[in-house]
Amino acid sequence: MVEGILVKGYGGFYYVNIDGIEVECSLRGKFRRKNQNFLPGDTVSVSLQGDDRGVIEDVAPRKNALVRPPIANVDQVVIVMALKEPEPQLSLLDRLLVLAESMDLEAVICFNKEDKIVQEPEIIAIYEKIGYPVVLTSVITMHNIDALTNRLQGKISVFAGLSGVGKSSLLNAIEPNLSLKVGQVSEKAKRGKHTTRYVELISLPEGGMVADTPGFSNLSLGDIPSRYLPFCFPEIEKIQSGCRFSQCMHHKEPDCMVKKAVEQGEIASSRYDNYLIFLEELIGQERRY
Ligand code: ZN
Repeated sequence: MVEGILVKGYGGFYYVNIDGIEVECSLRGKFRRKNQNFLPGDTVSVSLQGDDRGVIEDVAPRKNALVRPPIANVDQVVIVMALKEPEPQLSLLDRLLVLAESMDLEAVICFNKEDKIVQEPEIIAIYEKIGYPVVLTSVITMHNIDALTNRLQGKISVFAGLSGVGKSSLLNAIEPNLSLKVGQVSEKAKRGKHTTRYVELISLPEGGMVADTPGFSNLSLGDIPSRYLPFCFPEIEKIQSGCRFSQCMHHKEPDCMVKKAVEQGEIASSRYDNYLIFLEELIGQERRY
């Protein structure tokens, strides 16, 4: 038996990437009886029948599973923001970062459309200081496309961000064979809502896999407990043990290290402001239940 990663299910078959080769697989009957669902990203064991066919015999437990897009075992999310047209939205960026932290996903911040700016904006330093990898890209000049590609190696990644920031063009720049596919999908989408959309993992020539559809677009913080929010801001988590109260929420409490760090400019005020907005949102949700 060999191990591989499921890339898509389509028409009753499952396509498994085994050492870079896509093998068409059917399921053992036991899975159908158990009504087990399979997701792209699942690690499966396959018994090969010839060169390009096989049977899925076993599936490994998942470390996580996203709902949108439905992908299992996601390692990282690439959050794409345009530097211009549209302007970067830090509240959305921080929200997506909190979601990634709450799911224990690594996050890469990609500021795209670098060709549209003359000077590097200050926001970049904010996120680099926290420790997030930041890549400035342009699909016009192809600047840093290879740096972004390197970040995807050996991992299952999902792209996230608003429409219009250039996610599809970035994916096309990373994997030119994708261009036709993206075009086909949008054509299908135009024809109506009855077309079933199959999510697929694209294997990159340099290694690594990327979901062919952007996701993570659910902007609700979901069911993150408010107590857990400080742990979703790495720069807050790092210093909060110095607060006077061990349960400090870094809001109205006295002798708060976090508030002090904001005053001294050690923590960006934009980040702290968004922290407070999210905190209120989560506390409000908890009251409703
Ligand atoms: Zn505090």
